[in-house]
Amino acid sequence: MTRPSRLRLSWGGATDQGRVRANNQDAMHADWGLFVVADGMGGHQGGEVAANLAVRAVAKAERGSISDLRNAVVDANRLVHETAIAQPELHGMGTTLTALAVDQHGEGHQFVVFNVGDSRVYRYRDNQLEQLTEDHSYVAELVRRGEIDDEAASVHPYRNMLTRAIGVHPEVEIDELLVEPAVGDRFVLCSDGLTNELDDSAIAEQLANTEDPAAVAKALVAAANEHGGRDNSTVLVVDVQAGPLTEDNELREVAEDYSTDLGDEGDKGLDVPDHAAGKDFEMKPRASTIKQRSWLYDQVRISLGAAVVTLVLTVTTAAMIITIGWYARSGYHVDVVANHVVIQKGRAGGLLWFEPTLEQWTEIQISELSDTDQSRLANSGHMSTLNEAQSFVATLQTDQFGGEVGS
Ligand code: MN
Repeated sequence: MTRPSRLRLSWGGATDQGRVRANNQDAMHADWGLFVVADGMGGHQGGEVAANLAVRAVAKAERGSISDLRNAVVDANRLVHETAIAQPELHGMGTTLTALAVDQHGEGHQFVVFNVGDSRVYRYRDNQLEQLTEDHSYVAELVRRGEIDDEAASVHPYRNMLTRAIGVHPEVEIDELLVEPAVGDRFVLCSDGLTNELDDSAIAEQLANTEDPAAVAKALVAAANEHGGRDNSTVLVVDVQAGPLTEDNELREVAEDYSTDLGDEGDKGLDVPDHAAGKDFEMKPRASTIKQRSWLYDQVRISLGAAVVTLVLTVTTAAMIITIGWYARSGYHVDVVANHVVIQKGRAGGLLWFEPTLEQWTEIQISELSDTDQSRLANSGHMSTLNEAQSFVATLQTDQFGGEVGS
């Protein structure tokens, strides 16, 4: 492997809202030596706000300094958290954040990777795709503990639940790793909208087939959409190359918006070299459109996300999780849904993410019940068996005109 004394990077990015979501809560940034992907969560635009706040906070960091970048990630967490507290409609918002940055040390360069959440950084080297980051998600924890395999994880109902996110708590633990770049390396930053639709071998195949980083990013996002596009997907591809840019290359890459060159030892710091001076390297995510809908889905994700963070901080063993799940889902209670008396399985109000589920629907309407029965229902509490719940419902309907218990 050739260690570049002069580091030349070429990159391209793409993001898309996918085929199900009505808005894009992913955000990305690419510029001089810093590449960031964030995947926001939260209702009422919270996800978009969180992802964009975090990305912008990190983008402000001084280039080339690991400690400045680390502080910028810490700042991003605080900023998202404080904004969420200050604005009730943004309460509970959060975001993943994964960043790849060039660190100049002595004569050479290395990359530093920061990660919080389940967005990923991969390195594609010698036709091998390697995930450099660790996912901070509930299912990834289960896989690491050997309780489920990758296949089970990929279809697990809680696969979107994060155990760490930017902005959820005042402090956050940030993963940090150093990577030595080699000529020919291809780094991929992506949100889970890509990795939930495509497995590593499908991603590797695409990376092998397409040389241009912008084109491969676009192709990967398109492939995620073809496989269902159930989430926003964002891909940023960064290629490590050798030698100076040619005039042709430069023109083409500037036209692509995302490519530039990192200076050699002769340059001061990571300043833009002369040939690129005056060029606009601002990231312009071409496929990204920000709309403002789909809050229902977002609410679901935010409540799950917030719940799992709380859970993982307090419950550290699978046995305890299973016990709580069993407890939350055990027994029944009588409830009112859409004005109808129903029997729900599980504890009233749920526990952590274990929500009660509808066991039996009845035609008895709450408005038809006497005040006495309404208050009996309100105070009926937990019942250990379905039979008990059904018997209770039967006592309600005896006062009525033949409402029927049906399923
Ligand atoms: Mn996502």
